[in-house]
Amino acid sequence: MKKENLNSAPWTEKEKAELARLWLMQIPVRIIAEQLQRSPSAVVSGAWRLQLPRQDEVSLHQHLLRSCLKCQKSFCSQGKHNRICDPCRAHPTRSMLDHIFVA
Ligand SMILES: [Zn+2]
Repeated sequence: MKKENLNSAPWTEKEKAELARLWLMQIPVRIIAEQLQRSPSAVVSGAWRLQLPRQDEVSLHQHLLRSCLKCQKSFCSQGKHNRICDPCRAHPTRSMLDHIFVA
């Protein structure tokens, strides 16, 4: 899971937002890569980390880039109900602890 840092600097929030915007407009990866001055593979892995849908599935849902309620990282939400990113949702123990601390 560390390969993301191999050949590219971390994405800024602005770049992530721009990536999501272009991706959801179904702009070809090659063009997005040129716009953001990243490699096409960096664009694809960036999209993957933001949980953006496959480009041929973009129109199936209304997607929106949100900040996760738990870790504050940007991710692609599939709707109002979806406010927590997949990695956080995959940790039920952690969310249980959060509830204990909140209560
Ligand atoms: Zn999260």
